[in-house]
Amino acid sequence: MDATVGRIEEATYRYGIAMAPVAIRFDLRGASAGIYRSDGRERLIRYNVPIFARYFGANLEETVPHEVAHYVVDVVFGRRGVRPHGVQWRDVMSDFGVPATVRHDWNLDGLGVRRQRRFTYRCGCGVHEVTAVRHNRIRDRGAVYRCRRCRAPLEPT
Ligand SMILES: [Zn+2]
Ligand SMILES: [Zn+2]
Repeated sequence: MDATVGRIEEATYRYGIAMAPVAIRFDLRGASAGIYRSDGRERLIRYNVPIFARYFGANLEETVPHEVAHYVVDVVFGRRGVRPHGVQWRDVMSDFGVPATVRHDWNLDGLGVRRQRRFTYRCGCGVHEVTAVRHNRIRDRGAVYRCRRCRAPLEPT
């Protein structure tokens, strides 16, 4: 996607670093417009086409830099001691000139998305959206869910 490549080029120029390759896929479904994952071998940005189709301008201006900022932070800082939407990520968003928005109140009716509240958790390799049911199990009953990729337990952000 040109917008993603453009943001990556912008970051490359701004920070003067060589950006590692990142795969871009358009297969994300559900309530998130985009997601960034890295398992140490592969870096991957996934976009949600139905959500982009409904809110194209907003996704181009916000979701694309949001996910590219995750990627930039991963390349520049790695994962250790870095919170997903922490100061490093917010700094990159600020450099991009984009509000550091994490949640949108978009109307997803008709896109086959269940209107269940989601909670953001992190693992060793990225960010997970956890359902309210799981969130309550973790919080109230000490349930442990692990990332299928890095096997790290999910922790609240
Ligand atoms: Zn994010
Ligand atoms: Zn993980």
